[in-house]
Amino acid sequence: MFRPDVIVIGGGLAGSEAAWQLARRGLKVSLIEQKPARMSPAHTTPLFAELVCSNSLRSDDPDTPAGLLKAELRRAGSLIVECADATRVPAGGALAVDRHAFSRLVTTRLALEPNVRIERRPAEGLPEADVPVIVAGGPLVGGGLAARIRSLCGDRFYFYDAIAPIVEADSIDWDHAFRGSRWGKGTDDGGDYVNCPMSTAEYRAFVEALRAGQKVPPRAFEEPKYFEGCLPIEVMADRGDDVLAFGPMKPVGLETRAHAVVQLRTENIYATSFNLVGFQTRLTYGEQKRIFAMIPALAKAEFLRFGSIHRNSYIESWRLCGSELELHALPHVRLAGQITGVEGYIESTAMGLLAALFTHGRAIGKPVPAPPPTTGFGALYHHLMRRRAPGEPFSPTNINFGLLPPLEGRAKKRDRRALHAARAQEAMGSWLAEVA
Ligand SMILES: Cc1cc2nc3c(=O)[nH]c(=O)nc-3n(C[C@H](O)[C@H](O)[C@H](O)COP(=O)(O)OP(=O)(O)OC[C@H]3O[C@@H](n4cnc5c(N)ncnc54)[C@H](O)[C@@H]3O)c2cc1C
Repeated sequence: MFRPDVIVIGGGLAGSEAAWQLARRGLKVSLIEQKPARMSPAHTTPLFAELVCSNSLRSDDPDTPAGLLKAELRRAGSLIVECADATRVPAGGALAVDRHAFSRLVTTRLALEPNVRIERRPAEGLPEADVPVIVAGGPLVGGGLAARIRSLCGDRFYFYDAIAPIVEADSIDWDHAFRGSRWGKGTDDGGDYVNCPMSTAEYRAFVEALRAGQKVPPRAFEEPKYFEGCLPIEVMADRGDDVLAFGPMKPVGLETRAHAVVQLRTENIYATSFNLVGFQTRLTYGEQKRIFAMIPALAKAEFLRFGSIHRNSYIESWRLCGSELELHALPHVRLAGQITGVEGYIESTAMGLLAALFTHGRAIGKPVPAPPPTTGFGALYHHLMRRRAPGEPFSPTNINFGLLPPLEGRAKKRDRRALHAARAQEAMGSWLAEVA
């Protein structure tokens, strides 16, 4: 009789990876997948590891953030990246795949793995505490499972994502920016924020550009209904000429005579990146780059992440989980994949692999330490788990260099990516030698 050592719910990117990693380490895994009996609004095939949109796993250059994470996944023996490599299609420097061949290969590999038992049915709740569980239900998790997560996580379980862009600190034009918090509140020097002033003419042109800019249309299953406290900037621009100037761009409490001020808030503990406060948006990425360059301080800004608004189920991991991604409220349950608060195919895969390592480590009595923050894995993990200051929002992230600790010593900008990558590879090697 097949008695599972671990139950994995969800056979997407994270769940497939987690099940594979556990099985390869000798644990018996029940992998519960709801398809084809129930399909999310974005999934269309019965296959595992379905890519619901783009067929690209992004850049394969190890000196880019996505390439770095994939290099780490390869070193960790990722099933997803192995199958992607085997089914790649020409896409310049990116790792793009024949999506059906890719998902078929993942499905076949799991089906042929003796330690994996596939159960095709929706999980409507969470199994009792006699077996560890990994929940990888993805950004569109629904039904009884979502309700159960909600009952455990309360209002720290979110269904929509409203993300503001993040820029690299080095790319801000400081001749057009000044530090300072409204009304001098904040740390001792009162300089928690970077303020980017705009004249009346600059502001008016900016509002016009926001109105005319090309937006990403909502998907069929997304309702374009927004929380009043979290409106997209283009919606505010549409509501009136000065709505933004009285809203997130209000110049009050600051030493400036500007008509409007864009505020940037420190995004990471290293102060190497800043987010544009209140700038959640549905503008296309190209339009964000073009239109935000109209803010004088951001004329040459380099974006680590663009803004977006989309349907996405995720939790605030740092509040709700222990250091091994286990839920405080139900410690035999770990979350994995996008639901932990990462974004994207490879990021979700990495969080599936990590949840498997933590689960396996516990099962054999050899707990796995957190991945080093200088690695792509560690950067994502520490983003999820970093304690936030009161009022500091938590938003999901894809992998970007802004999540990594700054390099020691001074390095030319053009050399930094390669140095980040080299440092990450070295740290990853030591960590894997300890845990894999
Ligand atoms: C519309 C849309 C477009 C996207 N486009 C991109 C893109 O272009 N590039 C990119 O990198 N990322 C994209 N993403 C994000 C990407 O889908 C996720 O990062 C990734 O698929 C998450 O992996 P996951 O394993 O966490 O979830 P998923 O891959 O979604 O897998 C979750 C699995 O769990 C199953 N499941 C859910 N609930 C249950 C249940 N109760 N019982 C059993 N099984 C269950 C689902 O059927 C599914 O197979 C997109 C997301 C959406 C929603």
